Amino acid sequence: MEYRKLGNTGLEVSIIALGCEAFVEDNSNAKKFLDMAEEAGVNYFDLFSPDPAARSALGEALKGRREKFIIQSHISSVWKNGQYERSRDLNDVKAAFEDSLGRLGTDYIDVGMIHYCDAYADWQTIKDNGIVDYAKELKAQGKIKHIGLSSHNPKVAMKAVEEGDIEVLMFSVNYVYDMLPGTENIDDLWADEVYEGGFKNMDPDRQRLYELCESIGVGITVMKAFAGGDILDEKLSPAGAALTVPQCISYALSRPAVATVCTGARNTDQLEESIRYVDASEEEKDYAEAFANFPRVSWSGHCMYCTHCHPCPAEINIADVMKFLNLAVAHNESNGIREGSAEFRLPDTERGHYEALQKHASDCLQCGLCESRCPFDVEIRKNMDRAEAIFGL
Ligand code: SF4
Ligand code: SF4
Repeated sequence: MEYRKLGNTGLEVSIIALGCEAFVEDNSNAKKFLDMAEEAGVNYFDLFSPDPAARSALGEALKGRREKFIIQSHISSVWKNGQYERSRDLNDVKAAFEDSLGRLGTDYIDVGMIHYCDAYADWQTIKDNGIVDYAKELKAQGKIKHIGLSSHNPKVAMKAVEEGDIEVLMFSVNYVYDMLPGTENIDDLWADEVYEGGFKNMDPDRQRLYELCESIGVGITVMKAFAGGDILDEKLSPAGAALTVPQCISYALSRPAVATVCTGARNTDQLEESIRYVDASEEEKDYAEAFANFPRVSWSGHCMYCTHCHPCPAEINIADVMKFLNLAVAHNESNGIREGSAEFRLPDTERGHYEALQKHASDCLQCGLCESRCPFDVEIRKNMDRAEAIFGL
């Protein structure tokens, strides 16, 4: 298993995580799921479900091994009248959180995830109703270690992240969502008319969100990496072609700031398939060729960090140079500063990461070999010039 830092939390998380919807479908799977996860080195799981039976089953399965797992559990996902509800009522929220701790048999949650906020008005309600303050109180008491937010809307997520209390963002990451502008209603992303003209390139808000999170140390945990399974199916995929499970996971993991993909397996076979990702070959994980050949998608000029252009004769890690370049630019753009202006400042984090690379843009031979291999027509040589100008080497 590979592990990554979850933003600035200090947590090291497995790149594959459990998404725990599966426990709702069949609670008797809880122990088996955790056994399989533990054996494979999966140390992270997301618990969105407020179903008391699911939480109790998970608590039972966790007995004697609480410390082996990093738990991301949702605040303001409550159980009412025998069903799940997203609540903004502070009393309900508090009662559900305390109940959850008891059922899970733990006195702390690693990441307390404020649940499912896709609208600006809802984010304001969350704050006005004291839910953010409650999360801070829980953190001060040690009942949660870090504050998170789950969202599908890059604009709302960006606002929340910029306000500074969110340490972990659970975000929906797959190539279909990534090409569409944010919406306050997730169902809009699947409306037929959205796909009529085909797709072109990544939505700039989403790109900015990922880059902002990486730049300021907010870790992203991924949900909906398979878009509910639709992008695994040629007939359902809006691109007109299917991706495989390893390609979807690899795509999500290659976005900046992403630490882990919560795979949302519904049965042990699906869980096994997700865990197998760590043994997949580079060819199996490669999504770039598939993207470049999608009948209804065109990506051009935008780096996907796919590494297809490697190896470089000057031994430059081109994808990393592109990433740090984009991060430095995004950091300035988030403050309204354009590249090339006198106010442009190089953030310390990106400077440090860039300087630590073994080779830099200034080592570029301008041979163009990389551009002949890039499936997305990125003007790599021009970007090397930009990187050298910005980083000074
Ligand atoms: S420049 Fe092209 S090939 Fe290289 S990482 Fe970016 S998208 Fe991939
Ligand atoms: S153009 Fe520069 S970055 Fe591209 S392969 Fe040649 S030396 Fe490497």
